Amino acid sequence: MNTSKNKTPVASWFDYDYFEEERKAIKALTVILRTAGCQWRKCTMCGFWQESADVTQADILDQLERSLRNSPEEDIILKIFTSGSFLDEREISSETRKEIAERVRKVGRIRKFIVETRPEFVSAERIEDLKGVENLELAIGLETADDFIRSKYIKKGFSFDDYRKAAEIRWRCDGKNVSSAQTAVCIRKECNRRRY
Ligand code: SF4
Repeated sequence: MNTSKNKTPVASWFDYDYFEEERKAIKALTVILRTAGCQWRKCTMCGFWQESADVTQADILDQLERSLRNSPEEDIILKIFTSGSFLDEREISSETRKEIAERVRKVGRIRKFIVETRPEFVSAERIEDLKGVENLELAIGLETADDFIRSKYIKKGFSFDDYRKAAEIRWRCDGKNVSSAQTAVCIRKECNRRRY
C-alpha cells in the first residue's frame, strides 16, 4: 500500500464556475478524491476507476484537508468527484460523508457543494448525511437522454427512468413535491447540465 499516494487526491485545481443562485461567476475548487473507485467500471468512454486505490476513510479525509489548505479567503464552489460515486458506501462511508459535510460547513465560504454519483446510490438517508451544506447539487452522468444509445454504446447500466427517480428523491429532500411530468420537463431543460 502506497501511504503517501493514498493521502493525496488524484487531482485538485481552481477555476471559475457560474454560481447560478447568484447569477455570477465565482472561484471553484474541484477535487478528485482517490477512493476504492467505481464498482460499475463498464462505461465505454471511462477509465476513471484506474485511479482507485486501497484507501481508508481517514485517507479520504486527509485528501480533502490537503485540497482545502490553499483555498482562498473568498466565496467558492466546491466540487468533489471520486473515481466513481460520492454516495456509494463502498467508496465513502456515511460517517465520512457527515465529516465532510461538517468540514464544508465550518469553512463557511463554500457557497455551493457539488458531488457526483450514479443514480442507484441516491437515497434520502445518504442526502441527509450532507445536511446543512449550502446549495447541495448532485451531478449524475446521464450522457444521453436516449436509453438505447446509453445502454448499447455507452454501457452506462442505468435507464432514463432511474435517473428521473434519483432526481425526484433529490428534489423531495428539499421539500419539493414534484410530479413525474414536472420532473421530465425540468430534466429536458437541464439535460446538458446533468446536475440535480
Ligand atoms: S459510472 Fe462513472 S465512473 Fe463508473 S465507469 Fe461509468 S462513467 Fe466511469
